[in-house]
Amino acid sequence: MHEVSIAEGIASAVENTVTAGTPVVSVRVAVGELAGVDIDALLFAWESVRKGTCMQKARLVVERPEGRAWCVQCSKEVALHRHGDPCPECGSFQLLATQGHELKVLDIEIPADAPQETNENGA
Ligand SMILES: [Zn+2]
Repeated sequence: MHEVSIAEGIASAVENTVTAGTPVVSVRVAVGELAGVDIDALLFAWESVRKGTCMQKARLVVERPEGRAWCVQCSKEVALHRHGDPCPECGSFQLLATQGHELKVLDIEIPADAPQETNENGA
């Protein structure tokens, strides 16, 4: 199942980022609308992938950046929530997806008293 390997990828990215043994509170990821990921399946996969790791109790928070596409008919960028949907402006199917395929870890929440420096500079 595709979503299991995604969950594993997220888990290893987190493990490479935090100090070993830090009890991670939550992990925020961006999964674009056009990334072709089933969010329910991803959350389900996360439940098993996190077992026995520092993410044992970590919540997976999923953000969904909007998909966008270039409409050849309108010559402008429009929203595209799903591959195969028509242009919301003119109904054309000549759309070239421009964003919404991202799949990345945005941030990792660790307890305030975790034995490591947190980034105070903000982002
Ligand atoms: Zn259009």
